[in-house]
Amino acid sequence: MDGGGKRMAQVTPMMKQYLEIKAQYTDAFLFFRLGDFYEMFYEDAKLAAQELEITLTGRGQGEERIPMCGVPYHSADAYVSKLIEKGYKIAICEQVEDPRQAKGVVKREVVKLLTPGTVMDGQMIKEKEHNYLVAVTVFADRSYGVARADLTTGECAVTLFEDDFDEVIHELINSGTKEVVIASTLSESLKVKIEERKQFTISIEDEYDILDGYDHLCENLQSHKLIQAFGRLLQYLIRTQKRSLEHLQPVIYYPSNSYLKMDSHTKRNLELTESLREKKKAGSLLAVVDKTVTAMGGRLVKSWIDRPLIDLKEIEERLQIVTAFKDHYFVREELRDELRHVYDLERLAGRIAYGSVNARELVQLKRSLQCIPAIKEHCKPLLKEKVDAWFHNEEEVEQLLDLLEESLVDDPPISVTEGGMIRQGYHDELDTYRDASRNGKQWIAELEQKERKETGIKTLKVGYNRVFGYYIEVTRANVHLLEEGRYERKQTLTNAERFITPELKEKEALILEAEDKLTQLEYDLFVGIREAAKEYVTAIQALAHSISEIDVLSGFAEISEDAQYVKPQFSNKNEIAIQSGRHPVVETVIKKGEYVQNDLLMEKGREMLLITGPNMAGKSTYMRQLALIVVMAQIGCYVPADVAELPIFDQIFTRIGAADDLASGQSTFMVEMLETKYALTKATENSLILLDEIGRGTSTYDGMALAQAIIEFIHDTIRAKTMFSTHYHELTALEGTLENLKNVHVSAIEEDGKVVFLHKVVDGQADRSYGIYVAELAELPAEVTRRADELLKQLESTPSLNPGSVVKENQSQPEQLSLFFDEQKEAERGKPYKRNDKTDKIMKKLSEKDVLHMTPIEALHFINDLQKLIK
Ligand code: ADP
Repeated sequence: MDGGGKRMAQVTPMMKQYLEIKAQYTDAFLFFRLGDFYEMFYEDAKLAAQELEITLTGRGQGEERIPMCGVPYHSADAYVSKLIEKGYKIAICEQVEDPRQAKGVVKREVVKLLTPGTVMDGQMIKEKEHNYLVAVTVFADRSYGVARADLTTGECAVTLFEDDFDEVIHELINSGTKEVVIASTLSESLKVKIEERKQFTISIEDEYDILDGYDHLCENLQSHKLIQAFGRLLQYLIRTQKRSLEHLQPVIYYPSNSYLKMDSHTKRNLELTESLREKKKAGSLLAVVDKTVTAMGGRLVKSWIDRPLIDLKEIEERLQIVTAFKDHYFVREELRDELRHVYDLERLAGRIAYGSVNARELVQLKRSLQCIPAIKEHCKPLLKEKVDAWFHNEEEVEQLLDLLEESLVDDPPISVTEGGMIRQGYHDELDTYRDASRNGKQWIAELEQKERKETGIKTLKVGYNRVFGYYIEVTRANVHLLEEGRYERKQTLTNAERFITPELKEKEALILEAEDKLTQLEYDLFVGIREAAKEYVTAIQALAHSISEIDVLSGFAEISEDAQYVKPQFSNKNEIAIQSGRHPVVETVIKKGEYVQNDLLMEKGREMLLITGPNMAGKSTYMRQLALIVVMAQIGCYVPADVAELPIFDQIFTRIGAADDLASGQSTFMVEMLETKYALTKATENSLILLDEIGRGTSTYDGMALAQAIIEFIHDTIRAKTMFSTHYHELTALEGTLENLKNVHVSAIEEDGKVVFLHKVVDGQADRSYGIYVAELAELPAEVTRRADELLKQLESTPSLNPGSVVKENQSQPEQLSLFFDEQKEAERGKPYKRNDKTDKIMKKLSEKDVLHMTPIEALHFINDLQKLIK
């Protein structure tokens, strides 16, 4: 997309106009209105032809031929949606004067700028997702303001992050941001961090003053930083929207640390809202707990999963509501039936405030409001106090309902300019016109019968067309039957003659006048109703929030009952005690009853669990299970277990599975280290850390060294609840030295030479890895597995080669336990390894390094340095 300033000299006046306008919108497609088409030129045309799969043509001749392509204006929406979905922006440039009156080139202006974060219309926005536009502001003290708006609902919020830009990035990803607004002066290194995600459209805005008329939006904001952060967002909106922003709601401040924090890797790894592989909702935690029946409930449950609570009182409050709904099956069912009839109140409120609502949508609002009394009645006996809060603005809602019931018909058209919207009896004058029009039409209908009778012509017809209005038509064969002077001749067709009478024209004038006035008056009345509805936007929004909450929580009750979840218990003993826990997603995809339930105990003396067991045994399922139970509990849902006693966690960190971040060009091992670094630098003793097979991505020795160093660091310094799965059986020896670490393993048994995974987690270490059996299961060629078996036997019979035997030796001499491979052998190779010193150095280096700000190459050098330390 280019500005093409230098081209101006040789071009026609219209192209000059195009280039001038285009120069102001270099980062957007310019849809340039030419008659019935939006045309694009130059690079815009080439790119659009490719992205939209439309034909690239040209304008002009020979060398000066300009690449061009276009889309018909009446079907432009579909093309716009396609480009928006791909993250592009589109400036719509219209003719702003009547071409017949124009002197020279018709005046044209950009009337709106459509961007992924600011679209409001149907096709481009997803029902159960927020459409966020986010502005990021960097302050001199290295704190970061993050302001977001969802134009479809008018919701605005702002928060502040102290000194860690990665948290900003996680926030952007977590909240489902579509577009990020930054200052043109944002440093290159920070800009790269946003760009490398390749999922946000980036826009520039350098102004941040709050313009007159918008002060009220900032009434909740105390600090100038927050106001400035929001200011940038607002300035961008004003510049792009070119229309009223009345529907924005006062900005809410949300502290960035008032939620259970999970970075974006963790969320992705845990498959909270989408599956890792397919990036679909199916297979995620959201798919299990989202039983909502309204679109706004769908959005709310997703945002709850993105931000679980950390305040016990708030969690308990949600759980109490879930319990009430769970214990009253019939009430809940009736309630949910009622909720199904409630439309998307939040987005309707947005459209009302925006002034773009039509009569059909107002009727949707009416139907939704009609459900409210029943919803309230269902909730009242179970949740008296909560009901008062949920429906505190009942009176306003009733007034609005009265207005809509009185004024609008039940099934109005989508168009607001063609009448047919207003109910009989709402407005006297309108009714009079309607009667006039109706009576006139009745008279005309009767005329046909009357004239047929009087003239004896059975085929005589009364018709209407736009040019001549009403007429009487007689076929040529019958014209001679008409008495002279009965009608006035108006038009001759091949087979018929058309006539009029003064009386017919008189009635016609009446009808047309009435209809003209009727549609104009209907439109005016409709606009009046739409304006009146604006007064209730805040009430509708509050109601929308209550309904979404009821929807989500009654949905939690439903799944808790259906899937036999239990209410989590929170204690301040800082212990986890889960009996018969299950993985909420896995248990739904395997055969009923086949999920093996597992207990989990983490308390003093066993705050870190080191999990060993064969591949495919269920280690990572066991770890994820805990994280998901924690998330479910902290969003206020029951959990898949028989008993679940939990502390409240402040953060969850995971390093699970091989989530190669190909998009950002990072290797698996690099991602592994980045995620681990994040955990090691951010976790507190109230956090949960899950590390799966750390160190696997590098060679055995340094992998094991890293793994042990990490375990020791968490154990001694962080003291967070941690589960660590590993295939380095040598590490199980750590149980002897680390007082808070316990070995557990997932059991497997051999039956008739075949391995059976029991998926049962028990204390103690696993005795072997069963890798070859898994290879057999995967049907690797028999030759390969047979040879592997042979090799394994050889290895097992050679003590010095057998890592297991090293561990056993070490176990009997705990003071040397920290050596996890054969020190003597290494010494023979000339690489003596003094562990304590070196580990300390590794730990220090690891903890000091800001890995997230390193390039992959720097990271490799860093690891190389670590490796040198070990050698
Ligand atoms: P690991 O991490 O030990 O390699 P996973 O946790 O990936 O193993 O589990 C492998 C498979 O075993 C899973 O895909 C799941 O289908 C099954 N599985 C895991 N845990 C259980 C369980 N408790 N009950 C039944 N099946 C399970």
